[in-house]
Amino acid sequence: MTTETANAASPTDVVTNTTSRETFDSLSPINGDVVGTHPVHTAEDVEEAVRRAREAAAWWSALSFDERAEILNTWKGVVTRRIAQLADLSHRETGKPHSDATLEAALALDHIAWAAKNAKKVLGRHKVSSGLVMANQAATVEYKPLGVVGVIGPWNYPVFTPLGSITYALAAGNTVVFKPSELTPGVGGWLAATFAEVVPDHPVFQVVTGLGETGAALCRAGVDKVAFTGSTETGKKVMAACAETLTPVVIEAGGKDAVLVDEDADLDAAADATLWGACANAGQTCTGVERVYVHDRVYDEFLSRLLDKARDLSADESPDTKIGPITMPAQLGKIRAHIDDALARGGRAVLGGPEAVGERYVQPTILVDVPEDSSAVQEETFGPTMTVTRVADMDEAIAKTNATRYGLGSTVFAKARGMELAERIRSGMTSVNGVITFAAIPSLPFGGVGDSGFGRIHGADGLREFTYAKSIARQKFKPLLALTSFGRTAKNDQQLTQMITMMHGRGSTLEK
Ligand code: NDP
Repeated sequence: MTTETANAASPTDVVTNTTSRETFDSLSPINGDVVGTHPVHTAEDVEEAVRRAREAAAWWSALSFDERAEILNTWKGVVTRRIAQLADLSHRETGKPHSDATLEAALALDHIAWAAKNAKKVLGRHKVSSGLVMANQAATVEYKPLGVVGVIGPWNYPVFTPLGSITYALAAGNTVVFKPSELTPGVGGWLAATFAEVVPDHPVFQVVTGLGETGAALCRAGVDKVAFTGSTETGKKVMAACAETLTPVVIEAGGKDAVLVDEDADLDAAADATLWGACANAGQTCTGVERVYVHDRVYDEFLSRLLDKARDLSADESPDTKIGPITMPAQLGKIRAHIDDALARGGRAVLGGPEAVGERYVQPTILVDVPEDSSAVQEETFGPTMTVTRVADMDEAIAKTNATRYGLGSTVFAKARGMELAERIRSGMTSVNGVITFAAIPSLPFGGVGDSGFGRIHGADGLREFTYAKSIARQKFKPLLALTSFGRTAKNDQQLTQMITMMHGRGSTLEK
């Protein structure tokens, strides 16, 4: 055991007084080895963690923005110095290549820095206009922390994704109780344990581990908000549980993201980005590319370049592989079912196909001529597969892109019309001439519409998501017109009518 490993306490240490006896193992998707053993925290354990978090919130929320920023930046330094250890643990729990695990952690660090730096500016009390009618008032607004935020995270990006909620919730002055996926409890525990090294005396960021029931218990444990990232189906259960106590939720759910390739696009760059967007992390990316719509004039050329690049790519267990295994074994059946359905309905596999789905690994698969109503086009596949579809023009590409229940991310490759096409796509985020670039820009809000969820993490919206607005109107001097008083006279009413007629009587400025 290295010193660094010894420093990283297990999640069991994070919740004290645990009543839990039961444990579960996290397993390597590469070879089935046990990576770690963790407690199944019960509803009582979760309630205890939330109680402790509430006590800690009194201390944490009373710190200034600068003091919290200092702590977050110190933690960022610890995580940065141990990034290799974190990436190794993530590699062992998810199977993703070391290089991808390092990239994921590196991008999360940038978000910690942004949230720490910008919380004061975004959330601190600031003046707003009080308007002519209330000119005697000083109007200010500030965004206050909610208290304790429960974070429920997925396994596919066990560092970047939950930290998108955790970091912003902490920077806004909340304490956090985090339930990681049962597939990645070690990474969750590592994150909380390193934070606890920086803040040893207050349980500002705790982890509870277990299966779905532990997550359900967190929804009912009296937290002030739940930030959920996972599948749309589980998101609905989380929302239903939170509805019982009117606990607000952020839902970051699945996607069916499309790439649009226009006739003037840089085809080589588009093929490169499409392949990476579809196959990185073995396709297990909420904003991963699953559909591609290509202008008729460049379809053949694009497909040929895409195939050229994809032929060299394989998923295997070699140390320098670019694609790891499918993390959740149950997903293999779903990927296979989507491919089978596409082929049964007249689609063709120009790369991969049903035989690409192995016992742990799925080889890159490119499907063409797939009908739009097949599951490979409508449902989240979460594997290194994509459909590539010919469209007559970009209007057809937009219509097809928008014809799913999801609306998370999207990508446009185009020279002349990039921004125009991006604006017409119904999705929370779009990259133009790049892929998934929006996720790595901390100032851009991240989230979806439709079945991809609601609410935002990252950026100013992501900070405000974990706060409530507190408005104060302070009287600067006595009003010329006392409006909120029974002392208001008929003359006052007349003066008010004259004033609002002057201000608003002309109606639309467009009428002129
Ligand atoms: P799941 O929905 O299966 O699980 C997500 C989390 O919810 C896990 O921690 C899980 O615990 C927990 N959970 C399960 N049941 C309940 C319940 N009844 N109440 C409360 N919590 C519960 O998703 P996956 O982990 O499989 O993640 C993959 C999904 O996440 C994909 O759909 C992907 O698109 C989406 N995702 C979305 C992102 C976004 O930002 N929009 C980012 C990353 C992923 P346990 O693991 O123990 O079952």
